[in-house]
Amino acid sequence: MPTAEDAHARLAEIPNVTVCAGALLSRYTRFGIGGPADLYAETSDAEAFIAALAAARASGLETVVIGGGTNLIVSDAGFRGIVLRYRADRLQAAGACVMADAGAVLQDLVDFAIARGLKGLETLSGIPGSVGAAVYGNAGAYGHSISERVVRVRFYDGAEIRLFTNGECAFHYRESVFKQHKEWIIFSTELALEPADAAALRQTADDILKVRNEKFPVTMKCAGSIFKNQLYKDLPPDVAAAVPANVVREGKVPSAYFLEQVGAKGIERGGIRVATYHANLIYNAGGGTAADLCAVIADLKQRVLDRFGIALEEEVQYVG
Ligand SMILES: Cc1cc2nc3c(=O)[nH]c(=O)nc-3n(C[C@H](O)[C@H](O)[C@H](O)COP(=O)(O)OP(=O)(O)OC[C@H]3O[C@@H](n4cnc5c(N)ncnc54)[C@H](O)[C@@H]3O)c2cc1C
Repeated sequence: MPTAEDAHARLAEIPNVTVCAGALLSRYTRFGIGGPADLYAETSDAEAFIAALAAARASGLETVVIGGGTNLIVSDAGFRGIVLRYRADRLQAAGACVMADAGAVLQDLVDFAIARGLKGLETLSGIPGSVGAAVYGNAGAYGHSISERVVRVRFYDGAEIRLFTNGECAFHYRESVFKQHKEWIIFSTELALEPADAAALRQTADDILKVRNEKFPVTMKCAGSIFKNQLYKDLPPDVAAAVPANVVREGKVPSAYFLEQVGAKGIERGGIRVATYHANLIYNAGGGTAADLCAVIADLKQRVLDRFGIALEEEVQYVG
C-alpha cells in the first residue's frame, strides 16, 4: 500500500512543486487552528498542479485543496492526506474584461480593477482570501457577489480542463457548482466589468474597508461570519412574520439576528469567543482549539434550532 513517504517522493519529482511533510495547518488558516497535514504541496504552474493531483490521487491518500485558509476550520488532528494549493496569481485586463488566476488575492483583483477604472468588484473590498475560493463560495458583501461579474470559470475536473459559463456555475447565495464537486479545481476566471471613475470606485472601496476593519480587525483569528444568512422567503412563516422589516436586507435576515436572541454574544469556551458586538462572529482569542470551536458552533446551532426551528448552515468549510 502506498505511503505518505512514497507520495512525498513522487510529488518532489514534479518540477515547480514545493512539498513538505507534517506541515502544521494552523499556519495556513486565519483561525490559527489545525494540526499537521501528512503532506502539503503547492505550485503556481497549472501543469505541475495537474501532475501533483494525479500523483496525490494515485497514492490513494485523501486530497483537499485550500486557498488562503480564511474560511477553514481544520481539525486539531490535522489532515490525513495531501493538502494542495494552487498559487498562480496573474491578473490581466483587456478592455473591461479581466482575467484572474485562482491563486490571486481577491483584494489584489479588486484593487487591480479599481486602478483601471473598472466597476463591479469594489464592494468585495476587504473580503480576505483568494479569487478561486471566492468563486467556489460565491463570496460577496454589501449586496453584491462575485457571480454578478463572472463570465467564465476555467477548472480541472480530474480528467481535463473545462470552461463553464456563468450559468453552468449554478451560482446562488454562497453556493456554486464547485461546492457540489469538491474534487474540481478552479484555475482562473474571466470577469466582465464596466468603465467608471477610478477615484469614485476607490472611495467606495475605502469606505467599505474602514467599516470592515473595525468589525474584523486584521489580526483577528476568525473566518468572518460563521453561518450563512437566512433567506427571508425560506423562513418558517411564524418566524418570518416576527422579523422586523428593518432587519431584512436584500431578501436576507442576518443569522446574527437569531443568534443574538439565543444569547450567543460573548459566549466563551477555552480560547474560543463569540464577539460581544457580533453574534455571528467567532474568533480564536489565543490557544483556541478546533474541538472548542466546533462545540461552540454546535451549541449555537442547537439553540437557534430549538428556539426558531431554523437549521443554521455553516459558511466555513471543514478540513480533517
Ligand atoms: C475577517 C473575514 C471576513 C470575511 N468576510 C466575508 C464576506 O464579507 N463575504 C464572504 O463571502 N466571505 C467572507 N469571508 C470568508 C472568506 O474570506 C471567503 O470565503 C473566501 O472566499 C475564502 O478564501 P480563501 O482563499 O481563504 O479560501 P479557503 O478558506 O482556503 O478555502 C475555502 C474553500 O474554497 C475551496 N477552494 C479554495 N481554492 C480553490 C480552488 N482553486 N478551486 C476549488 N476550490 C477552492 C477550498 O477547498 C475550501 O473549501 C470572510 C473571512 C474573514 C476571515
